Amino acid sequence: MKDLWRAHNASHASDPLTAWFLGPKSEHSDVVFNTLTYIFQDYVHWRRNYFPKDPVVLRHELRREHESWQNKLSACVDTILSNLKADYPFYSPRYIAHMTSEQTIPAVLGYFAGMLYNPNNVTDEAAPVTVRLELEVGRMVAAMLGYAPERAWAHICSGGTVANLEALWVARMVQFTPFMVRDYCKRHAPDFTIQAANGQPARVVDLSPAELIHLPPDTAISLLRALARYEVNTLGRSQRRVLSRLNEFVRRSAYNVKLRGFDAVVRKAGMRPVIFASAAAHYCLFKVMHVLGYGEDCLRAVPVNRQFRIDTTALRAMLDSLDSREYVAAVIGVVGTTEEGAVDPIHTLSAIRAERARTHNQSFWIHADAAWGGYIRALFCGHDIAADHKGELASAATVNRFRRAIAARDVINPGTRATVAWDDPEVYRAFLALPLADSIVVDPHKLGHVPYPAGVVAFKNGLVTELMTQHARYISEETEGVKAIDAMAEINAVGPYILEGSKPGAAATACWLAHTTIPLDAQGHGSIMRASVLSARKLYWHLAQHRANFQRYEANYGTPSAHPFAFIPLCEPDTNIVCFIARPMVRQGDAFVPAHVPLAVINQINRRIHEACDIPKPARGVQMPYDKEYFVSRTVFEPARYSRDALLPLLRALHIDPDEYAKSSLVVLRSTAMNPLYPTALEAGMDYLADFVRHLHKVARLIVGEVMAKQRSRAR
Ligand SMILES: *Cc1c(COP(=O)(O)O)cnc(C)c1O
Repeated sequence: MKDLWRAHNASHASDPLTAWFLGPKSEHSDVVFNTLTYIFQDYVHWRRNYFPKDPVVLRHELRREHESWQNKLSACVDTILSNLKADYPFYSPRYIAHMTSEQTIPAVLGYFAGMLYNPNNVTDEAAPVTVRLELEVGRMVAAMLGYAPERAWAHICSGGTVANLEALWVARMVQFTPFMVRDYCKRHAPDFTIQAANGQPARVVDLSPAELIHLPPDTAISLLRALARYEVNTLGRSQRRVLSRLNEFVRRSAYNVKLRGFDAVVRKAGMRPVIFASAAAHYCLFKVMHVLGYGEDCLRAVPVNRQFRIDTTALRAMLDSLDSREYVAAVIGVVGTTEEGAVDPIHTLSAIRAERARTHNQSFWIHADAAWGGYIRALFCGHDIAADHKGELASAATVNRFRRAIAARDVINPGTRATVAWDDPEVYRAFLALPLADSIVVDPHKLGHVPYPAGVVAFKNGLVTELMTQHARYISEETEGVKAIDAMAEINAVGPYILEGSKPGAAATACWLAHTTIPLDAQGHGSIMRASVLSARKLYWHLAQHRANFQRYEANYGTPSAHPFAFIPLCEPDTNIVCFIARPMVRQGDAFVPAHVPLAVINQINRRIHEACDIPKPARGVQMPYDKEYFVSRTVFEPARYSRDALLPLLRALHIDPDEYAKSSLVVLRSTAMNPLYPTALEAGMDYLADFVRHLHKVARLIVGEVMAKQRSRAR
């Protein structure tokens, strides 16, 4: 692990990523200042050159009259600026807490430029330039995720929450399309035959409701087109008449969720939806369940394993125990859980789907919530090997090729041990299998280092737009329904297909400039991700070594700690978030072993460490952060979400009584190591991650001492 860091570090002499961020001391302020001014001046010229002979409206004499208002304006600007200083220093390598950090320079410049022109990306009539850029960004992100960009459909939205909502909204529309097609076929095309989930040919009219609703998503999405093609090519009907009859039939169908409402449709189908996601999934899914009318009951939490990844054995059992009326509305894999950064094995979810297609003639929609981890896939892009890898379960040889390719760029001195982002092949496999998901969510405003708001939702099959079109005469000519039987329809306006309406063109200019100047491959955004993943591994290593190095940490202080303790990381990070706890220890010979203390005491210690490394709640937004050396965040594991049984191996490793946990909860410290400049800072002589652990030690030794003294006096 030490070698790994050093080898990574050796390459940083000319690391391009050092150009991409303003820097902790605004080191790149000249470039940013000059370009911001340039953008603004250029914008001023643009205004002046539009009918230059028009009169000056705000004349000089007039402008002078506003001095008092302008004084007020500058005073209020000062107020805002001074208030903002009480914000958290997200840009700083000392902020190792929530998932926020530096923004890239091009993202900020792009946002500023877009913001001045203020286009509304709901339609190309209000944003002729930036809608085009948004579609281009969609193709770039789709390619990074492994989708074929010309077949996929991806666009920018406000964030992961809306992106998840939209993905499941679209999935739902797709799932009921086969019912509409069956009804249509009964009347107009009884012999229309497709390949069912098990690969066998089947007449659509012969499929049961469970088989219809579980058709492979790709088949269901393309079903209307396939039917139209069949009518035109096989039955020799006129394309114009077929499309108009089919679209009219769909529009009025009893299974059209948009028209009839979900409740009516699901009742008519005689089915009940179930959605699976790991217990570590983001809480926004509850909102999604609420909004879509599924209800939270519909979301079945699958237990997590020791690494906080979805337990696929449990998932299999849960799928097997569904009753005949329940259908799988989606299986959600999380790529980078919000609290632990864990990566679900998307390849295994896909394998389970293939199994069930064979054994039950049932497929399902796989949705990947990669809001957090999506950009990490850039590490897998831009290698020669990527071209011959199709996204199926990656072999050990493929994993090794990627392991070497991802590491190779870190090695400057030949002969240095190759550095690796991950030892576990499962992480490679999950990222490589990402394009097997039918929809993927990724947040540029998280690991893309782009200003808020910017989320992306991507669909593998762009034909979903045909099922979702909402006609709005005043923003576009786009009509509803299937428009062609072969070519993919061209997309100009965004608004008719998506959940949101008005939205910032600035998000598109920000993403476009960021992704164009820092490509979405291993050398571009991938190198930011690599720095982050390696930083997290380094932090993990320091924490894991803390117990063995306790005496060395203590050597910095004149008096020994009143009570020994250790930091214990919960598991090795899949991405760049490290969760850990501090717990009291006792000396046993030369070693320290966990002390028997109630969980409540351990929780109290960790709560207080968090408070000491955060701005206290009443002072938030008022107190400046200048006296806070480091920031850490925390989360609480509750038995209602992570059951006693699911956490059993972890609780044992932490020497925490599982029954005590079952009756309370576990407070966990959480550090997001996403600042890209840790390796660079090390060259400048500052090892922030090591210093962070030293700081935690300094804080913890006092807190542990106090809490344990109180504990002892209470025991007496
Ligand atoms: C952050 C996050 C979300 C929600 O995204 P927002 O952009 O905050 O709306 C959803 N899922 C995961 C895994 C996340 O990390």
